[in-house]
Amino acid sequence: MQRQFVFKEKGRFFDLRFLFNKLNARYFNNCLENYSIVWGKKRRLRPRNEIVFGSIQEEDRLIRIHPLLDRAFVPVWFLEYVIYHEMCHAVVPDEFDAQGRRIVHHERFYAEERKFHRFRRAKAWEADNLARFLR
Ligand SMILES: [Zn+2]
Repeated sequence: MQRQFVFKEKGRFFDLRFLFNKLNARYFNNCLENYSIVWGKKRRLRPRNEIVFGSIQEEDRLIRIHPLLDRAFVPVWFLEYVIYHEMCHAVVPDEFDAQGRRIVHHERFYAEERKFHRFRRAKAWEADNLARFLR
């Protein structure tokens, strides 16, 4: 049975499906199949200290993107970087430390992440603009 998601992919400024498909073709040989990508729920207040731009629920093949990224001042390549990061989680397996704790951001993951064509620019933009997403 096909699952139906009622979440929306199209924001005011960006279409997540379009960007996902573009990245899937460019970096992943279209191997990420049956994924949903949606804008997360809008909150009344902005986060105070930190913001989670994206997340992935592997068991549901669901990527969520923070709705505060759907704004005119956000460069499309920054949003693409956020989506790309989540897509990397889909293809790079988690690792575990000696205590059995899950590590999701490890060297192999970072090596994959750095392949994004505007990686440095995206990290610099994130550092320079983080305050605009917080209270
Ligand atoms: Zn991550």
